[in-house]
Amino acid sequence: MSEPREWRDILFPTIMRLGRMLRTSRFSSIGRTTHPFMDFFKGYEKAEAVRRIFGDDTEHVLGSLQVEFNPIVGYMGVDGADGHLIISSKYLNEGDKVDIHLDIVHELVHVRQFLEGKELWDSRYDYVERPTEIEAYRYAVEEARKLGLDDERICRYLKTEWMTEQDLRKLARAVNVVCIN
Ligand SMILES: [Zn+2]
Repeated sequence: MSEPREWRDILFPTIMRLGRMLRTSRFSSIGRTTHPFMDFFKGYEKAEAVRRIFGDDTEHVLGSLQVEFNPIVGYMGVDGADGHLIISSKYLNEGDKVDIHLDIVHELVHVRQFLEGKELWDSRYDYVERPTEIEAYRYAVEEARKLGLDDERICRYLKTEWMTEQDLRKLARAVNVVCIN
């Protein structure tokens, strides 16, 4: 179990804006209970990246979005049954704050895709080539650039432990990021 934590204690100045959005005061993992997204992620409805995803529907979608803090899942994802957000409580407490923010942007793209009835896990494609993933990563990369992250840092963000070097190169190319290794 993770201890509740005040996000602001561990923020550094360049991500103060993220800090305000990611701050949670009473955070704990409590199984599959869901909570209103906006109770925990304040200000996301005003974030430019998020408004680009949902447009005029931003308040409506985020206002009805539920979030589940799960102690078992790896990072975060969207539930296939009803499209609610599932976030690893461990990742949320211990992960890099910029990565978490970019992942939220990424997952919110999947929330929109889910609402549009798109197939999020289309097995005809590999993960790094799936159109729904490319779209989600594009939004995350765009947000990363806005935050001033360079390609080297964005590559570190893109690389996950289940990805081969070849996968990373494919994904990086698809989202116009230069990864040198
Ligand atoms: Zn994804």
